[in-house]
Amino acid sequence: MGNPSYDVVVVGSGPGGYVCAIRASQLGLSVACVEKSPTLGGTCLNVGCIPSKALLESSELFHRAGREFAKHGVVVEPTLDLAAMLGRKDKIVTQLTRGVAGLFKKNGVASFTGLGRLRSATEVEVLGADGEVLETLRAGAVVLATGSVVSTLPGVELDGERVFGSTEALSLQAPPERLLVIGAGVIGLELGSVWRRLGSKVTILEYMDRILPGVDADVAKQAQRSLRKLGLKFQLGVRVQSAELIDDGVRLHFLEGEEARSIEGDACLVAVGRRPCTAGLGLEAVRIELDERGRIPVDAHLATPVSGIYAIGDVIRGPMLAHKAEDEGVAVAERLAGGSGHVNYDAIPSVVYTHPEIAWVGRSEEQLKAAGIDFKVGRFPFMANGRAKALEGTDGLVKLLADVRTDRLLGAHVVGPMAGELIGELTLALEFGASTEDIARTCHAHPTLSEVVREAALDAGGRVIHI
Ligand code: FAD
Ligand code: NAD
Repeated sequence: MGNPSYDVVVVGSGPGGYVCAIRASQLGLSVACVEKSPTLGGTCLNVGCIPSKALLESSELFHRAGREFAKHGVVVEPTLDLAAMLGRKDKIVTQLTRGVAGLFKKNGVASFTGLGRLRSATEVEVLGADGEVLETLRAGAVVLATGSVVSTLPGVELDGERVFGSTEALSLQAPPERLLVIGAGVIGLELGSVWRRLGSKVTILEYMDRILPGVDADVAKQAQRSLRKLGLKFQLGVRVQSAELIDDGVRLHFLEGEEARSIEGDACLVAVGRRPCTAGLGLEAVRIELDERGRIPVDAHLATPVSGIYAIGDVIRGPMLAHKAEDEGVAVAERLAGGSGHVNYDAIPSVVYTHPEIAWVGRSEEQLKAAGIDFKVGRFPFMANGRAKALEGTDGLVKLLADVRTDRLLGAHVVGPMAGELIGELTLALEFGASTEDIARTCHAHPTLSEVVREAALDAGGRVIHI
C-alpha cells in the first residue's frame, strides 16, 4: 500500500488550521490535519483564549460578589474555591477540544497525531515521540498553521514555577501573595486582572511609558484608570533586564531611565509577546527562509515562496489573534478549491477581556495623524447611559474616528462594559464602508449599551442628544 494522499495537508490544529481543514473539506477537497499535541484546538482552545476567558469570568464574579453585590442589595461573603474554578475552566477546554475532534469526524477530515515535518513540498512526515516516522502523507497542497509559543527576555529564564508564561498562569494552585508581571500588553492585563481579583497584589512592569502600546492613547489611558481602581499597580517606562530566584520568591532587576533598580515578588508572569513556532517543521528541506522576526514569509494570497505551500495564523505576519488565523484559514481553503478567498486586514477587531473590556477596530487617532488624514472625532461616555448605570458599568467611552470630508468611519475604540460585543457593530460598519451618519440613523434598542455607539456617532455630526 502506498502513502496516504490528500488534496490538502494542514500542519497544526489551532483556530487557523482546524478551520482551514474543515472549510477545505466542505468544499470537496480531501484533507488531513497533523497535530503534535494529544488534543486539538491549538493555543487558543487549550492554553489561550478559552481558558483565560473562563478564568476572567469566574474571577470577575468572585470580585463583584465581594465588592459590588452589596450595591445591588445582595449581601454575601464569598469564599474562593480555586480548585472548582480551575476545574470548570478545564472542563470547558475539554468540551471544546473534543468538539473539534467531533467536527473533524463530521466533515471527514483525517486527523494524525504527531509532529508534522516537511520532507518535500508534496510530502509531510508525521513523527512519533522518539522521532520515528509514523506516516508519510502525500499532499496536493500544504498549509502551515503551527502558531506561536511564549517568548521571554534575555536574562529572564522561565522555570515554570516561580517565573512562568501564560500557560502556567492559567493553572496556579494558589494566588501568589505578590505577583510581578512583565509586560502591560494583552496577556499582562488579562491574567494580571485574574490574579488580582483572586487576591494577589499585582505589579505590572512595562517598558513603554503607557499600557497597551499601539492602542489609541485616549482609550489606553481610560483603561489604565479603571484597572488602577481594581488595584493593579503599574511601573511604566522600565526595562526589565533579568530575573533572579531568591529564597521563596523572585527578584526582577530593571532600568528606570539610567537608574538600576529591583523589585521582589513571590512569582513572576512573563508576558512580553509570543514568537512563531517553526521548530522541527523541516522548512530547510523546502528552502523556506524565515523573515527577520522568525515568521514564515507569505504573499497577499498567503502563499509561501514555495509553490503549493501556504501559511496562516500566528506563524506569519499580522496580529496574533484567533479570528485573524481563522479568516486566513478560510481564505486559503477557498482559494485551494478554486474560489477567491480574501482577508480584509483593515477590519480585524481586537478585544482585551479586562473589566471594563477594551476593544477597537480600524485606525487609532495617532495612526491617522501620522498618515496626515483629516478626521473628526465622536465620543460618548458610558456614564450617561441608562443600561450602563443598571449594570454598574459606567467607566469608559466609545470613540469614533471618521473622515472629515466623507464622514466614512475610519476607526472605532471602546472601553467599557461588553466592549467586545459592541465592537461587532462597528466592525460591520467599517467593513461596509459606513459613515457615522449611517450608524446615527440606525435605530438602536433602548436601554442598551449600543446606544452609546449611536450617541458617539451623533457626536461626530455635532448633534449628540443625551449629554
Ligand atoms: P495555534 O493556536 O498556536 O495552533 C498551532 C498548533 O500547531 C498547536 O496546536 C501546535 O501544537 C501545533 N504545531 C506546532 N508545530 C507543529 C508541528 N510541527 N506539527 C504538528 N503540530 C504542530 N486570541 C484572540 O483572538 N482572542 C483571545 O481572547 C486570545 N486570548 C489568548 C490568551 C492567551 C493566554 C494566549 C497565549 C493567546 C491568546 N490569543 C487570543 C491568541 C490566540 O491564541 C492565537 O492567535 C491563535 O491561537 C493562533 O492560532 P493558530 O492556529 O495560528 O496557532
Ligand atoms: P504583547 O505584545 O501584547 O505585550 C507585550 C508587552 O511587553 C508590551 O507592552 C511590551 O512593551 C512589553 N515589554 C517587552 N519587553 C519588555 C521589558 N524588557 N520590560 C518590560 N516590558 C517589556 O504580548 P502578550 O501580552 O505577551 O501577548 C502575546 C500575543 O497574544 C499578543 O500578540 C496578543 O495578540 C495575543 N493575545 C491576545 C489576546 C486577546 O485577543 N484578548 C489575549 C492574550 C493574548
